[in-house]
Amino acid sequence: MSMEQRVQSWIRPEIQALSAYHVPDASELVKLDAMENPYTWPQDLRREWLKRLSHVDVNRYPDPRAKDLAGELRLAMQVPGEMAVLLGNGSDEIIQMLALAVSGQGRSILSVEPGFVMYSMIATWCGMDYHGVPLRGEDFSLDMPALRLAIGKHQPALIFLACPNNPTGNLFADEEIVEVLEMAPGLVVVDEAYAPFTDHSFMSRLGRFDNLLVMRTVSKLGLAGLRLGMLAGPQAWLDEIDKVRMPYNINVLTQETARFALEHHQVLDEQTRAIRRDRQKMFESLQGMQGITAYPSQANFILARTAPGRAQALFEHLLNNGVLVKKLHGSHPLLEDCLRFTVGRPEENRQLLELLEGFGHG
Ligand SMILES: *Cc1c(COP(=O)(O)O)cnc(C)c1O
Repeated sequence: MSMEQRVQSWIRPEIQALSAYHVPDASELVKLDAMENPYTWPQDLRREWLKRLSHVDVNRYPDPRAKDLAGELRLAMQVPGEMAVLLGNGSDEIIQMLALAVSGQGRSILSVEPGFVMYSMIATWCGMDYHGVPLRGEDFSLDMPALRLAIGKHQPALIFLACPNNPTGNLFADEEIVEVLEMAPGLVVVDEAYAPFTDHSFMSRLGRFDNLLVMRTVSKLGLAGLRLGMLAGPQAWLDEIDKVRMPYNINVLTQETARFALEHHQVLDEQTRAIRRDRQKMFESLQGMQGITAYPSQANFILARTAPGRAQALFEHLLNNGVLVKKLHGSHPLLEDCLRFTVGRPEENRQLLELLEGFGHG
């Protein structure tokens, strides 16, 4: 048997059918594709941080529960006192832990589309079915009749609602999320990855619904390189999910650095305030542009639609001029002709807008 045949006979067919998560090479480019905070730390803060790291003993395993960091995250993210928290190597790992804890014959994950691609990818890895319910085309709000039907029919173990949603940037209506919570047979995870860019949250509602969990990450806040996410919710659920957590999943450098960053949160707060302000500026500029439709956003990116059939050409025009954005055209029917622009530093946004102005939108 050739190696190819052996690979084909042993790797699960649904894994062979996947394409690996593609991350483009962005060296030398203005990077407006991945919702990163574009700001680095001031030099004196970097020096202080490195001094802190110099005391870390990398020969030792990390604190397995990262309890100091967990305590500080609880405060920073205003987790209600009686709720438990669980940390993950990015919220991606938390999604995987949730799936592993509920997976099994006939178990499924349900979310809305267009949405965050990791929900369906992780469902596949964990041998679960995935059901994506389309959002409403006009404004990307929840399609409640379709959701009621899908939840009733599939009885999903897990429902993910990202709020604000990626890649559309909008919030879903509170009363509709509440209806999903009341209707869901299993868990509902409200994914608040973009919490730093909106005043809206379900965190304070934890405990009012026994199937509500709230997920956060420090990635979009300005610490994407650390890989640190947090799940908050009732102890009874989190005790079980914690059993599928890799021991020591939060490494010592991440624990120390995140604690340091939280002690200096004013720096990150100021950066996120600037991003929110610049999002508004970018939105207004896009709105005034011929051939572009911009969608209102509560996140650190803006979804934009080009004239019919022009998204690929615009994407290439930007790339050829050194600006990398996310091309969404072709990924979902509701994202025809769509690109997603992460809000960057003012000069980066200006560069993007000038290139957009100079493009023949057709
Ligand atoms: C970016 C993003 C995350 C991020 O996850 P990390 O693994 O913590 O970086 C989670 N959910 C949504 C909807 C996102 O857009």
